[in-house]
Amino acid sequence: MALHIETPFLPVASDIGAGRELWAKMESMQPAGSFKLRGLGALCEEEVARGARRLVSSSGGNAGYATAWAGRALGVPVTVVVFETTGAAVRKKLAAVGAAVRVHGAGWDDAHAEAERIAAETGGTLIHPFDHPTLWRGHATMIEEMARQGPRPDAVVLAVGGGGLMLGVIQGLNDVGWSDVPVVAVETKGAASLAAAIVAGRAVTLDRIDSIALTLGARRVADAALAACRTHSVRSVVVSDHEAIAACIRFADETRVLVEPACGAALAGIYENASALVHARRIAVIACGGIGISLKQLREWSARFGVEAA
Ligand SMILES: *Cc1c(COP(=O)(O)O)cnc(C)c1O
Repeated sequence: MALHIETPFLPVASDIGAGRELWAKMESMQPAGSFKLRGLGALCEEEVARGARRLVSSSGGNAGYATAWAGRALGVPVTVVVFETTGAAVRKKLAAVGAAVRVHGAGWDDAHAEAERIAAETGGTLIHPFDHPTLWRGHATMIEEMARQGPRPDAVVLAVGGGGLMLGVIQGLNDVGWSDVPVVAVETKGAASLAAAIVAGRAVTLDRIDSIALTLGARRVADAALAACRTHSVRSVVVSDHEAIAACIRFADETRVLVEPACGAALAGIYENASALVHARRIAVIACGGIGISLKQLREWSARFGVEAA
């Protein structure tokens, strides 16, 4: 049985311009806090069925949490390697679902290298947070649901970290016959590895990550993500951390739901009227969610960026 749940696909009462509609796929409501449970649940199930006896994740939060959640449901121990900037609250949540938490390095790449080492040393199975076909197939289920739940959108807006969400969404759009629906791929300045790769026309590794949207902090996207931009209409948008936080606050007011800045980034692409969306009347956003948010954290960020609730 799938570990994720079917989430609502809701019209949001939001003034995004005359005659325009905003619809949100509420992945923030997944029991593990984000869409990650779809793909990682499927991948962990597959690996355990193939004999995995320990799962090892490299993640600044949501992927690790979804892996820990899946491991607990499947009765398999999980080690999650986070990095130094991963907040204490997230580490605590990981431990609370039974994961062994290790801290390694300044960013995701360092944590991932350590996870590879631990997997080799313990005979564990490395669970990649964004680069695996089973994971993309799991993420694609959200579009299958959307096609049953609501109208066909003119564009799907989502956040990009390593590109796993985008690959799953594109696969889902193809599966349901919506392959001509463009995807608007939003990143924050300082974590814009897809935007850099599109401009360069080849894979690019950023020197460093500089954004509060830690969940988007892959220095290099999956090769498949760049390749998908050549076969599907993908428009890249970059927003600021400030805009992402403002969007988190506005979305909370409009839906009474808290989301991470990673999700705020996707929303900011809409609220800030990205030119990539000028011809879209009905816009669907993947409200990807995230466990790295709380009232306290949102208050801190809004003070730091000088953003007030309306
Ligand atoms: C993982 C994650 C992303 C980015 O997904 P990728 O597959 O890495 O592109 C965006 N938002 C949230 C909340 C996430 O957990």
